[in-house]
Amino acid sequence: MVILGKNQVIAKRLSQISILIMVSLRLALAILMTASARMTTIAALSTASASVNHPSTIGTPGKPWGIDEFKLWRDTRVKQRCYTADIVPKIESLRDNTLFDVVKYGEVEHYGIGECDAFPLFAVKSRDWSEDKPNVFITGGIHGYETSGVEGAFLFLSGGRAAHYTQHFNILVAPCVSPWAYERIQRWNAKGVDPNRSFNPNGEVVEGRSFNPGEATEESAALIKFLREDMGHVQFFCHMDLTGRMNQHHTIMRAKSRQCP
Ligand SMILES: [Zn+2]
Repeated sequence: MVILGKNQVIAKRLSQISILIMVSLRLALAILMTASARMTTIAALSTASASVNHPSTIGTPGKPWGIDEFKLWRDTRVKQRCYTADIVPKIESLRDNTLFDVVKYGEVEHYGIGECDAFPLFAVKSRDWSEDKPNVFITGGIHGYETSGVEGAFLFLSGGRAAHYTQHFNILVAPCVSPWAYERIQRWNAKGVDPNRSFNPNGEVVEGRSFNPGEATEESAALIKFLREDMGHVQFFCHMDLTGRMNQHHTIMRAKSRQCP
């Protein structure tokens, strides 16, 4: 056992304290550096996701998008609501209404990771369809960001007005035509094409059309096929596309019989 003098004890204590302070400072510095590195990483990631999130930042200015750019655009659109949870139950609940039939008229690819393979597409049709009455066709959600159109279609169907008008008209309603875009609140479908500008009936290329020189979208083609084959080329007295704007849909219910600009 070594017996230390009073001064030696003080010197040793000071040395221990200085080591403790140095270790603490190093630890604090390491934590600060780690936190700073993490903040830099988070900032870089959020900048990257923000920059990729805006379509104008994808691709090269002046050069049309190729498959890779469209895929990047599709994969960076964030799902914000659920067609299966929001829309399908509303359609299913209409099966109880004795005045309407619910028809599944097609499917479109889902593109969601770990989810179902396809979105079912539905229409609601007057059960008492008669040649003596004029036919009215109503669509909602052709553009996925037009929420009030979808809500308007369901309000019309469930709120009694559609039931009232079935006395005078045959009514066919497709309440949510473009489910992938509905979930992501987008105008375009998953392939970056506008379904409401893609009703080229025979899949033909329309010369001079800038918005979609290609064939009809899956959403448009499914609806065309349904009207031709299942509905027997039925002629409509009136077609109303219920539109709306995403910044207004919470407060304003717009249901105008016009094409969107
Ligand atoms: Zn529209």
